[in-house]
Amino acid sequence: MPIDPTLPYDANNIFAKILRGEIPSNKVYEDEWAYAFEDINPQAEVHTLVIPKGEYVSWDDFSTKASDAEIGGFVRAVGTVARAKGLVEPGYRLLANIGVHGGQEVPHLHVHIFGGQPLGRMIA
Ligand code: AMP
Repeated sequence: MPIDPTLPYDANNIFAKILRGEIPSNKVYEDEWAYAFEDINPQAEVHTLVIPKGEYVSWDDFSTKASDAEIGGFVRAVGTVARAKGLVEPGYRLLANIGVHGGQEVPHLHVHIFGGQPLGRMIA
């Protein structure tokens, strides 16, 4: 079920548990600001998720409350992961679902990185 992005952060969401190492993930990258891992149900040849280490429900929450250092660190981490995956040429797609209309299911901000194949239309 899509989440209500106005709800307070739920420290028991599945990505919080991944960050705490309570459930396994296929780690791709980690630094001070971000953690990246493979999506469990990939929708493309490459489907990697990047999440901030801070407790933010969504892009809306993050862009409102995160410090400039957190935002800078997270945005750079997304680029680092895409480059490390060799996606810059021929290209890739970033996606952040927010709230009910966005179809967001996990209430911890995550950016999807899709690539490794032509990705078709922007919205199906
Ligand atoms: P969204 O609809 O943007 O909230 O996307 C949530 C994404 O998290 C989906 O693509 C799921 O396949 C993915 N996902 C859910 N649980 C896990 C998990 N334990 N490990 C990796 N990816 C997950």
